[in-house]
Amino acid sequence: MSKHVMHKPPRKKPMWPLLAAAVLALVLAVWALVSALGGGEDPAGGQENGQQTEQQKPSEEEQDQQRQELLEKAGTLADGYFYDEALEALAARPELQNEQTEAEAERIRGLKAGLVKYEGQLYHVFFHSLIIYPELAFDDKGHPAEGYNMWMTTVKEFKAMLPLLLENNFVLYDITELVEIDASGQARPKDIYLPEGKKPLVISVDDVSYYDYMAPDGFATRLVINEAGDVVTEVKAPDGTVSQTYDGDVMPIVDQFVKEHPEFSFRGAKGVVAPTGYQGAFGYRITDPDWFTEEEFKKICDDTRAIAARLRETGWQIACHSYTHNSFWRGDMTLEQVKDDLGRWKELMTPYVGETNILITPFGGRFGTEGAVYDYIVKEMGFTIICPVGAGMSTSYQNGSMMQDRLNLDGYTMLEHPERISKYFFDPAAVVDPARPPLD
Ligand SMILES: [Zn+2]
Repeated sequence: MSKHVMHKPPRKKPMWPLLAAAVLALVLAVWALVSALGGGEDPAGGQENGQQTEQQKPSEEEQDQQRQELLEKAGTLADGYFYDEALEALAARPELQNEQTEAEAERIRGLKAGLVKYEGQLYHVFFHSLIIYPELAFDDKGHPAEGYNMWMTTVKEFKAMLPLLLENNFVLYDITELVEIDASGQARPKDIYLPEGKKPLVISVDDVSYYDYMAPDGFATRLVINEAGDVVTEVKAPDGTVSQTYDGDVMPIVDQFVKEHPEFSFRGAKGVVAPTGYQGAFGYRITDPDWFTEEEFKKICDDTRAIAARLRETGWQIACHSYTHNSFWRGDMTLEQVKDDLGRWKELMTPYVGETNILITPFGGRFGTEGAVYDYIVKEMGFTIICPVGAGMSTSYQNGSMMQDRLNLDGYTMLEHPERISKYFFDPAAVVDPARPPLD
């Protein structure tokens, strides 16, 4: 950015003689600079530019174009259920008002008035990191192919699922907007308002750490923020070339899909990203400082923080998927084990991925809503949203937390229990990747 400024001085040169002439010239110079820097989109600049419009009144053609852009912006906001924001955008440009903008405002007010309280079932599906190259995942070199075949979903399958979910009226919904904790510490459902017929869906992604063992098997190796500011996947192709892609995992694919179909996301909600801690987050080994020089370590910590922040800004929540992913999470854990695990999460992960009140239990483990383990997790550590695994996707609210079961849309469910998916979503036969080997 500093380079950019250095190229600018041409503006200063012609100013010098003027400065010598009179104070008026200085005023003009500052005014010119301010209006140049202010650009056309500065919302605060509206009033100050009042006099400017007399000098340089936009032509009818220009006004028309600005109006079309405004209508497009308002339409996109409204498609994403940002009704008030769309109306505000229209109202902020009174000079562009005509019967077209009036009609659009009327349409948006109608959409807003059409929201109805949602009383139906809540839906939550989950994935692991997506298989980009099935030929590597299923070659049985490295990690056994059967594990991937059971618990993973391919990029091709995931891309095929999104339009079906959209077609069937699902809309991505922020999980933290499904629950509120009242003054007495009790959890209860928060009201949901959606257009008639729409159904709220949460998508979560487990183990977003890009473990070492997966590296040779055709998965992304880490998340990065590209020059456009998007969180994208870094992928190593079978021929060894490394590139940044928009379709190497759930997050960039959903981001792109929502860009094309804003009606698939309620007010910008995307999903939940759940790393563990023992190999860091998002492909950055932030819990292994010994592997790096001080400088390298600082860089990966900064990168992790930036990715977490960008994910949150773009509609993603970050959840804890435990630090260790130890098998005690299957359900027979002691208080000491949980304290050690979540204590490490708190100390070593939250400084980089941020605080979270969402716990996605490893192995879909579940525990009772009373007792020392529960009190520690919910009351002491603040995990008021707990997500195990359960095909019925039931949601319950009790004793300070919301528990929400999730359905895995992976090879196991698609091939062994397709009815679990077709009951709510779509026929999985329509999306199963032919590259999958048969599941015995
Ligand atoms: Zn897991």
